[in-house]
Amino acid sequence: MAEKRDYYEVLGVDRNASGDEIKRAYRKLAKQYHPDVNEDKDAAAEKFKEASEAYSVLSDEQKRRKYDAFGHAAFDQTAGGGFGGFEDFMGGFGDIFESFFGGGRTARRNGPVRGADLRMELRITFEEAAFGARKDVRLNKDETCAECSGTGAKKGTSPQTCQTCGGTGQVRQQRNTAFGSFVNVTDCPDCGGRGSFIKEPCGECGGRGIVTKQKTISVDIPAGIDNGQILTMRGAGAAGQRGGPPGDLQIYIYVQPHEIFKREGYDLYLDIPVSFVDAALGAELSIPTLDGKAKLKMGEGTQTGTIFRLKDKGITHLHSSKKGSLYVKVNVDVPKKLSDKQKALLREFDKLSAAKKSFFERVRGE
Ligand SMILES: [Zn+2]
Ligand SMILES: [Zn+2]
Repeated sequence: MAEKRDYYEVLGVDRNASGDEIKRAYRKLAKQYHPDVNEDKDAAAEKFKEASEAYSVLSDEQKRRKYDAFGHAAFDQTAGGGFGGFEDFMGGFGDIFESFFGGGRTARRNGPVRGADLRMELRITFEEAAFGARKDVRLNKDETCAECSGTGAKKGTSPQTCQTCGGTGQVRQQRNTAFGSFVNVTDCPDCGGRGSFIKEPCGECGGRGIVTKQKTISVDIPAGIDNGQILTMRGAGAAGQRGGPPGDLQIYIYVQPHEIFKREGYDLYLDIPVSFVDAALGAELSIPTLDGKAKLKMGEGTQTGTIFRLKDKGITHLHSSKKGSLYVKVNVDVPKKLSDKQKALLREFDKLSAAKKSFFERVRGE
């Protein structure tokens, strides 16, 4: 595996960047590496993931502190792979974390362990992002084994308490030295810190107490979500062990671009062609919006590049009824093919205009 890049470097921000700076940097990268706008989709998806991972850590104050203190080691795991390894790591080094961060966690190996966070990507249409949607997603997920209720022991039996440690998973050794007596607490060598043995493992889960199942989960996508954002479903991740709470499910959102609308925050941008006659004389235009047509009155003598704003025709804000605007840019079409009659009429028009020469014409001495 390639060397993991520093999260700050990935996002291109300073180590003391503010939350807002981090958010802005991430949004920019998410847009830049959107697989739909990149030739090399796989490479772009990799970059997108790298940025998302960096963002998910640096945007969370607690995770960021751990990252600042320990670097990638805070989230790495030697077994299993993936992002959910943090808890495993905590299991082994929980005491260090507690002394650093004063958390109230008891990280004994035979204690409850929170389930891993799961990550997945979800591709949605522009309209689904704008209006919200409910999507069914399938994922492989660790669940508490129903056969043994998570104990790992064959149905009808239960794990046997370890005699060596009396079920605590730890043994204490007292050492007397010249400096006084020390109590050394280590994991029980007989049960490996679990506090119990399983004589006959459960046939369903092989003693793990956990089974991996393919599940379908309904995801409610809120109206207004944007490309590169992360939806977190609390408790929808992998099951916890020994009574620990489940992890979360993190859904990375890819929004497909729209054929005609461009989105910037909650505002929409649209370019429309108008005839030079309409631009000169003024016209009422019928403008496509995300939900039907809207009327736009274009005044006499509208210049190409003029931008009109249609209030409340943009995207609904996340968790609010506020709406963005639709900005319509008018591009005046100069006709390319004219009939002889049209040309004659335009020459006639030009003669009539000659009386009112423009500034440029006077400058050019025409
Ligand atoms: Zn089982
Ligand atoms: Zn033991």
